[in-house]
Amino acid sequence: MKKLYCLTFAFLLFSALSTFSQEKNEIIENIQKEAYENSQLEILAHELLDDIGPRLVGTPQMRQAHDWAVAKYKSWGISAENQQWGEWKGWERGITHIDMVSPRVQTLSGTQLAWNPGTSSKGVTAELIVLPEIRDSISFRKWLPNVKGKFVMVAMKQPTGRPDDNWKEWATPESFEKMKKEREEQTKAWNENIKRSGYDRRSIIPALEEAGAVGIVDSYWSKAFGANKIFGARTKKIPTVDIQLEDYGMLYRMVEHGDKPKIHVVAESKDLGVVPTFNTIAEIKGTEKPEEYVILSAHFDSWDGGTGATDNGTGTLVMMEAMRILKKVYPNPKRTILVGHWGSEEQGLNGSSSFVADHPEIVNNIQAVFNQDNGTGRVTSINGAGFLHSYDYISRWLKAVPDTIRKHIETTFPGWPARGGSDNASFVAAGAPAFNLSSLSWDYWNYTWHTNLDTYDKIVFDDVQSNVILTAIMAYMASEDDSKTSREQIILPIDDKTGERQTWPTPRVPERKGGQ
Ligand SMILES: [Zn+2]
Repeated sequence: MKKLYCLTFAFLLFSALSTFSQEKNEIIENIQKEAYENSQLEILAHELLDDIGPRLVGTPQMRQAHDWAVAKYKSWGISAENQQWGEWKGWERGITHIDMVSPRVQTLSGTQLAWNPGTSSKGVTAELIVLPEIRDSISFRKWLPNVKGKFVMVAMKQPTGRPDDNWKEWATPESFEKMKKEREEQTKAWNENIKRSGYDRRSIIPALEEAGAVGIVDSYWSKAFGANKIFGARTKKIPTVDIQLEDYGMLYRMVEHGDKPKIHVVAESKDLGVVPTFNTIAEIKGTEKPEEYVILSAHFDSWDGGTGATDNGTGTLVMMEAMRILKKVYPNPKRTILVGHWGSEEQGLNGSSSFVADHPEIVNNIQAVFNQDNGTGRVTSINGAGFLHSYDYISRWLKAVPDTIRKHIETTFPGWPARGGSDNASFVAAGAPAFNLSSLSWDYWNYTWHTNLDTYDKIVFDDVQSNVILTAIMAYMASEDDSKTSREQIILPIDDKTGERQTWPTPRVPERKGGQ
């Protein structure tokens, strides 16, 4: 009898355990099934990147993207809204067209920088000039009137348009070393020359504008074939364009050789005054612990030299697709699952830090934040962000992720708190357990990060799909966890430089009136 009782008890216990894990397994299976068999990634990518395009803060396209995301969520039965957190200079990019018109005609590859004060549709035609050899600030001031009526070339002429890995593969070791050494010396001399003017790379621009230049021609090479970084203009009234490495190099050589090249620049844009800025927030309400939150996080804005496909189109797609799948296969989560598509990350995490400041009731009840923002690659590392017990819960959740995805991921515990870089830092600073799902590079830093080449064709959909499954399962596991996650912080090490103990990062004050 006693024996039988034991057996029955053991059987009951076993069946209770297996029903629990069966349900669990079923949801995890369904997440994968939906991700693999009914993926919406390509259509979402097309609508966001091809149809809406880049999402610079303050542009109508950014607003359009927010409205598109809300409509998408609503079509999936997920409640969503745009929450205003600030305002920004409103601006819309128009046509850029740059041609060399003398001594011969050639259309050039280049574009105006963000917030460029546009030209008329007729454009500006003028000769080019390069910076002279500068002795000191007095001689520079004497030279300055020479820029009147001219386009000023403000970037160094690169000695090579081949990236270093290409040199490494093909050059003799001797010529590779020689090129690097010469380039280093040239760069140093270039920087010192500018310094002798009394200005730096940035402050020299207003000086040139004031002296009567009709435009600024820059070229910010991104150390990859055909890739330039496209940031914001620093001129008030005259256009600033970025011209790609070889077109820029050709013009520069022509100026040096006295060919007096002229270019014609049309760089139209619209100043739209001051416009509101938003975060798109969507959520699936929790049923047992609705006041506790699992947050999926990815910034929504981008720079606008390309279409922001990998920064942060792919992170955006991961979070949207994960939410769609969760709503379908796990519609009644234990905790609330919220997604934040933040505005103006690129200017200093402004959307997410505003959200953290505006919603303490959410931030104090966060179970976990999962953020993704470094390109299209599959996730290869997660670190515990300096939370002492992060190992316990992160590794418990990761165990539920299929080995085909998990095997690529290296974990570091307890890790260290993020101090910037992406929106997880906004949450970490407020003491909330926020983790970066850090992906494989795929040459992110040189090829796509803030470049003209950050476009749809660079997306690796298989990797993005893996990240969707990872994110959805981690969100599911975090939501279901029996216990609330610990926020206990590690004791940070002594800073070698100051000799003092490092302190936990503190919340940053968001810029809520930008670009004005
Ligand atoms: Zn980013």
